[in-house]
Amino acid sequence: MNTSVLVVEDEHAIRELLVFTCENSGMEVRGASNVAEARKMLEAKIPDIILLDWMLPDCSGLEWLKEIRKSEFYKKIPVIMVTARSLEDDKVIGLEKGADDYIVKPFSPKELIARIKAVIRRHGSENEEKKIIKCGDLTMDPQDFEVFVKDKKINLSVVEFKILFLLASHPGRVYSRSQVIDNVWGYGADIDERTIDVHMLRLRKQLADTSMKHFVETVRGLGYKAIKQ
Ligand code: CA
Repeated sequence: MNTSVLVVEDEHAIRELLVFTCENSGMEVRGASNVAEARKMLEAKIPDIILLDWMLPDCSGLEWLKEIRKSEFYKKIPVIMVTARSLEDDKVIGLEKGADDYIVKPFSPKELIARIKAVIRRHGSENEEKKIIKCGDLTMDPQDFEVFVKDKKINLSVVEFKILFLLASHPGRVYSRSQVIDNVWGYGADIDERTIDVHMLRLRKQLADTSMKHFVETVRGLGYKAIKQ
């Protein structure tokens, strides 16, 4: 399968160069010009790697990186910071905040591709295992948000997928509603806890005709958990 890349860069010419360079080496690329766009693209599909500019119009790349690293769902995505900053201190900050590598503009296409491949190789084996979850008859593929029970495809919204993925990643562990919110929407998101119950209801409805109908359990006064299979 082709390597999928999400490029987040507000300067049109540089974004085009990044996209072109990656496409030229057979990668599948999506480009975003700000963090809001990038968030939407992440929701649609998880890329194999993110190339992230530091200075973006709506939110600094570094701030968004911190957000990604706190998300149960996105924290494993490798990120290369692409930036005009070349100060050694900045590089250290970027790596401390969870960047996997750092590339300074202007860069050579060859160097860029070499770095992408090296970072993906480093993550490779770990990521392969993380990609698909199997729990009893349930299979979840976070790359394209697909859920199956045996051979039956289950239709879930992205939010419902994320909730189920969180629970199914740690069967037996109880998640409070606020922990679910932190993991699915991000820390400090302003979401009513009752919203979780609405999503849970729909989630269970979708599983109701399957062998996994008792998979998600309410733990009275605490939250929700997935049953160990
Ligand atoms: Ca920029």
